Amino acid sequence: MTSSMNNLDLHDLGVAELAAQLAAGTVSSVEVTQHFFNRIQQHSALGAFLAVDLDVSLTQARAADARLAAGERTPLLGVPLAHKDVFVTRDFPTTAGSKMLENYRSPFDATVVSQLASAGMVSLGKLNCDEFAMGSGNENSAYKPVQNPWDTSRVPGGSSGGSAAAVAARLVPAATGTDTGGSIRQPASLTGITGIKPTYGRCSRYGMVAFASSLDQAGPMARSALDCALLLSAMAGPDPDRDSTSLDMPAVDYAADLSAASAQAGAKPLQGLRIGLPTQFFGAGCAPDVLAAVQGALAEIEKRGATLVDVSLPLTELSIPVYYVIAPAEASSNLSRFDGVRYGHRAAHYTDLTDMYKKSRSEGFGDEATRRIMIGTYVLSHGYYDAYYLKAQKIRRLIAQDFQTAFAQCDVIAGPVSPTVAWKIGEKGDDPVASYLADIYTLSSSLAGLPGMSVPAGFGAGGMPVGLQLIGNYFKEAQLLGAAHQFQLATDWHQKAPGVSA
Ligand code: GLN
Repeated sequence: MTSSMNNLDLHDLGVAELAAQLAAGTVSSVEVTQHFFNRIQQHSALGAFLAVDLDVSLTQARAADARLAAGERTPLLGVPLAHKDVFVTRDFPTTAGSKMLENYRSPFDATVVSQLASAGMVSLGKLNCDEFAMGSGNENSAYKPVQNPWDTSRVPGGSSGGSAAAVAARLVPAATGTDTGGSIRQPASLTGITGIKPTYGRCSRYGMVAFASSLDQAGPMARSALDCALLLSAMAGPDPDRDSTSLDMPAVDYAADLSAASAQAGAKPLQGLRIGLPTQFFGAGCAPDVLAAVQGALAEIEKRGATLVDVSLPLTELSIPVYYVIAPAEASSNLSRFDGVRYGHRAAHYTDLTDMYKKSRSEGFGDEATRRIMIGTYVLSHGYYDAYYLKAQKIRRLIAQDFQTAFAQCDVIAGPVSPTVAWKIGEKGDDPVASYLADIYTLSSSLAGLPGMSVPAGFGAGGMPVGLQLIGNYFKEAQLLGAAHQFQLATDWHQKAPGVSA
């Protein structure tokens, strides 16, 4: 071990730091993998993981060590991560947080999973999430809720709550997540980590269990913008044979861009960057403690040379009803494949085919998935389609146009991610609409297909983390990561760890 590691445990190191140690040969991938595996066992009460398999992980780690020994030096080689359980994997079961897929094994890996594996990352297993990624608190997991490592009586956010809790508690240096209406950004915000939802289509959706296909997008969750950049460089890119909605744009080396930007001498690092603040994101709906942290972060960004300008996203409020029509509509269609015949759960006793469908689906789906199937089927049905689904699609277009009007005045839009810090487990349990309302700041950019990220920005009520949201125009992931990286060079919010991480 090098002297730099004397005072640090392996789990204190982020992706870039671990990769450096692995490349220098001061530690092996097998040692790193074993270390994180032990931590996962030690902190299993958090509920972050749904599946681990040490043999599988060690096999991957040994393969990475062999590549390192052969002289290969790539940025993620030998570094462990874990995947949200909506990415299908050959080596681990995939449940999407649902009883419907209990013990399901995919015959293939999701594109994102195989890209990260080819880059040499070692999978530590599968991470808990809301059932079919439907939720904002991870309480809709059919298996167990996830605890927020900053306060185990609170939710970690959702639907990528397992990913967020695992990264925050230092059980993994990085994780994959998916974001349909905020599920990377919001749990990142509520657990004090960094996460980026790329432009819709930037990462392949092949092998992601589908929720709302026109919104679903994969992205990385890690401790810093730099670590997210390293993962995104491996995850992004076209997948023309398997996902026709994947963008025909080559992956970018986002991490190299960050170092290049940091190396520029002279002007302040964010000089010339115009940050737009939508008035609708800073109103009475946002808790004062969250606003205070976000304002503090913006002041820091301003000090680094950016200018703050007021912009307007007038249809922000409508993003909730619009999303909660469109997402359930698409979900009702996507979830029709779970019929007890082709995938997953089949009822043990039934009288005929229709009875088998009914029983298998009623037993397999939890309350929230059932609610959304019913809403989605309703808004798509003859007689209601025009009034709900078509109307929602029209407003979706207007929401996207409002962003373009705003981007005429600014380069990046900033605001809170979530109107409050993490809430108590059970607090919103029997009121789905209370959860839906908490998505107010993330839904509109999802509907528009824009990239967005959450960057740790301080702490609010109860000592709980608060994230700053940065939203970019299409394909501007590099600009978002660059701004976040500069912010993280000047602040240490992203380095704070909850007590459980000791
Ligand atoms: N909270 C939102 C929902 O429940 C978003 C979920 C997501 O992004 N997967 O649908």
